[in-house]
This record gives sequence, C-alpha cells and structure tokens, in this order.
Amino acid sequence: MAVPKKRTPSSRRDRRRANIFLKEPQLVKCKKCGKPTEPHTICHECGFYKGKEYINVMAKIEKKQKALKTEVEETPEIKEEVKKPKKASKKTVKKEASKE
Ligand SMILES: [Zn+2]
Repeated sequence: MAVPKKRTPSSRRDRRRANIFLKEPQLVKCKKCGKPTEPHTICHECGFYKGKEYINVMAKIEKKQKALKTEVEETPEIKEEVKKPKKASKKTVKKEASKE
C-alpha cells in the first residue's frame, strides 16, 4: 500500500481545499422565450433548442390537465354520498317540526 512519505501540513491541505466549492450555474437567455436556461441544452420552458422544437411542452401540459380532470371526476361521487344524508336530515327536521 502506498503511504505518504511526509505529513501534509494544514496550510497546504487548506490551499488544496480552497478551490473545492460549488459554482453557480452559468445561465443563458433562451432565444425563443427569453427565460434563463443552461447553455447547450433544451429550454425546459418552451422545449426549443437551436430554433428547433425537441420537447412538445403543450402536449405535456394537456396530459397533466387530463390527469387533473380524472381526479375531479372521481370527487363528485363522494359529494353525492355527502348530499344524500343531508336530504334525509331535512325530512327528519320536518317530521320533528310537524310533531311539535
Ligand atoms: Zn425557451
């Protein structure tokens, strides 16, 4: 096993580690929509790169909306179940009122 001949001094170690840090991403304005994007990559806002469409963003949005609609269609069943007991409660209230 390779073993270092001499101990690395703290100053040398710290000088080495001074350059280890996260750099801020360099963003470029998208030519199509003007939003900041990474250079040499497809814009995630409009799906364009070098004037050509690579991702159909609208299709993705429509897919999401369809998924949301199916969720909404599932909820009315629950609402109807909630409404039925309310009607029964109204009748019971009327009966109670007539008794009095
Ligand atoms: Zn864009």
